[in-house]
Amino acid sequence: MKIRSAILRTSGATQPYAQSRPIHIEEIELDGPQEGEVLIQIMAASLCHSDLSVINGSRPRPLPMALGHEAAGVVKEVGAGVEGFEPGDKVICVFVPSCGQCIPCAEGRPALCEPGAKSNGDGTLLGGGQRLHAEDGKIGHHVGVSAFSEYAVVSQSSLVKVEEDLPFEKLALFGCAVITGVGAVVNTAKVQLGSSVAIVGLGGIGLSALLGAISAGAREVIAIDINSHKLEQAKELGATAVFNSKDTDVVERVKAYTNGGVDFAFETAGVVQAMEVAYAITKRGGTTTTTGLPHPKHKFSFPYVTLTAEEKTLKGSYLGSCVPKRDIPNYLLMMKTGKLPVDQLLSNIITLDEINEGFDLLATGDNSRIIIKMGE
Ligand SMILES: [Zn+2]
Ligand SMILES: [Zn+2]
Repeated sequence: MKIRSAILRTSGATQPYAQSRPIHIEEIELDGPQEGEVLIQIMAASLCHSDLSVINGSRPRPLPMALGHEAAGVVKEVGAGVEGFEPGDKVICVFVPSCGQCIPCAEGRPALCEPGAKSNGDGTLLGGGQRLHAEDGKIGHHVGVSAFSEYAVVSQSSLVKVEEDLPFEKLALFGCAVITGVGAVVNTAKVQLGSSVAIVGLGGIGLSALLGAISAGAREVIAIDINSHKLEQAKELGATAVFNSKDTDVVERVKAYTNGGVDFAFETAGVVQAMEVAYAITKRGGTTTTTGLPHPKHKFSFPYVTLTAEEKTLKGSYLGSCVPKRDIPNYLLMMKTGKLPVDQLLSNIITLDEINEGFDLLATGDNSRIIIKMGE
């Protein structure tokens, strides 16, 4: 079938994207679903910093590629062997497909699925190959989803079925920002009731982590960013204190405020300086967790002795260490009952044709989640 899709053909364009226009809305061909695959109509898709990282070249991917990964839609057709989905089902997309067979999958860690990581890196679907074609050749799938498109064919393991009757633009947030941010807090770091938490970097993931930490019962939730708008938003969402990391003495100020540092610090920006702040404000015996996806060549260094003499723990969190089929329905119910108000992160709604302008908005750092609304 013919679909309209947002295609990136070269990375590293200069900003503003409203002028350089690196993303082209093209009419391309989408094949039908093969074995284990599902055709979905995308109803809403959010602009995420990891799409921006592909556009600006800090997350190198094979191009051309159809971007987008944080999305919700409706099942239109299922391929052979698909179980648990039928036309009409509402679904949320997950950006790591999991095979269910490899060692990490067998260990209950689908975020680390090995064939899933390989197909994502190659720009293919989990079942191999690409279902997207332009006249001049095949188009890569972004993390098995490619959601800035009217329709997508994805592996059934890239989908979680939703029973709740909620607007698609709210459902979309759960596919990346919410599971990554909340999951980092409760699954990876395992924040405990009464602990002190700091979040460094207040994008969609950082603000989700902030709400997750409040929901998990942290007594102190400190928000840190270079953008004063974001610090204001964090206060409105319930941060107990905010600090601007443009201030050169931010580490000393947080340590003084917390009497030596926090139990759990999270770095969600994928920026080395943010990681340095997060590690430095982690107290003796505390844990620093990062969800950041910096350029593969960027290195982070720290005083080696602090790991031993201060018993610090350093953790990475991918997809919030989530089991999406378990966690997404739980987090959705928590939003519905007001315990996890992540729908407050929705800041702007745009059309597919406004995508370049949308990424300019995201890059300013003033907005949390910009959603492309599609479908009727
Ligand atoms: Zn696997
Ligand atoms: Zn994302």
